Amino acid sequence: MKALITGGAGFIGSALARHIVGTRLGSAVIVDKLTYAGNLSSLAPIAESKRFAFEKFDVVDQDALRDALARHQPECVFHLAAESHVDRSITHAAAFIQTNLVGTFSVLEACRAYWESLKGEARSRFRVVHISTDEVFGSLGEKGAFVEDTPYDPRSPYSASKAGSDHLARSWFHTFQLPVMVSNCSNNYGPYQMPEKLIPLTILNALHGQALPVYGDGKNVRDWLFVDDHVQALLLIAEKGEIGRSYNVGGRNERANVDVVMRICDLLDALAPREFSHRNLIAYVRDRPGHDRRYAIDATRIEAELGWCASETFESGIDRTVNWYVGNRDWWTPLRAAWSQRQGLPA
Ligand code: NAD
Repeated sequence: MKALITGGAGFIGSALARHIVGTRLGSAVIVDKLTYAGNLSSLAPIAESKRFAFEKFDVVDQDALRDALARHQPECVFHLAAESHVDRSITHAAAFIQTNLVGTFSVLEACRAYWESLKGEARSRFRVVHISTDEVFGSLGEKGAFVEDTPYDPRSPYSASKAGSDHLARSWFHTFQLPVMVSNCSNNYGPYQMPEKLIPLTILNALHGQALPVYGDGKNVRDWLFVDDHVQALLLIAEKGEIGRSYNVGGRNERANVDVVMRICDLLDALAPREFSHRNLIAYVRDRPGHDRRYAIDATRIEAELGWCASETFESGIDRTVNWYVGNRDWWTPLRAAWSQRQGLPA
């Protein structure tokens, strides 16, 4: 696997790069602007490898992308660069439009020019995997799950920008036959996730004896996917997926947010005990505007057609994740300090 990964200094992209370079002994070129969410220390385990390269630029810069593609000659482009935090999309929507929509257009156009320049087997093997989210489908009631044909109904600036980028990706397949596949996955969690997202925020606040904020009544349900399971799905899509097709990826691990937080508290009660249970730190806060109630993924297509299935249960995955954060303070301490400073909070 010779991959180019946009957004490869982020949470999922860095997991994909560590796997391709560190485990599969393939090569990976990272293209990343290094926004607040990009972090080179997530790539430290593979940084010395000759099969790893890093290019710092904005995916909106189509000329830079064309140049990087021509120089590195990847077999597959995984497009993960995005503004990805829903809360930020409510306060700073412009960056979401720019990166998620204009940036995706730029990636598709650069990939098209590169692919059209290829000949023979290199041309027939080339693939683009556009990584998207289940949030494009909107919000579910108590029952049911999103399938690939569920109509799009995005409700936040984040999910609307991702929905638009999915439409662009599909149209580049239908109009130009660019070999693109789209994946829509549920909430990822695992090592190396930025401290602002629910699971790392809860772990790190609990370790610091700080309040554990839970939106609204805490009953919003997400379908949790361990990041390494997602990586396996992306590789299968790239290698065996049908071009032009979409694949839903989810762990079949639905949990209410407050149950996730309580599970983390219970694990930390054993790993880092205090005089009181960490559950006492839970603080319900005003709900996020437009907060989708429930997401659930029906992953039947990728399971049946590509033979993928999640290997982690929520219990095993969250256990690994909490242990990783407890054992990797060097990774998160500077990130948490920077995040706290941005929030005007004590580090
Ligand atoms: P992340 O926020 O951790 O990382 C995003 C990366 O993209 C960062 O390294 C950032 O520096 C980079 N980036 C942002 N704007 C850029 C630009 N204009 N040019 C170049 N690089 C830029 O995100 P993540 O959680 O790793 O998510 C990766 C992808 O997966 C995103 O497309 C996201 O929408 C999708 N996704 C994520 C989840 C999840 O639970 N994390 C779920 C479903 C889908």
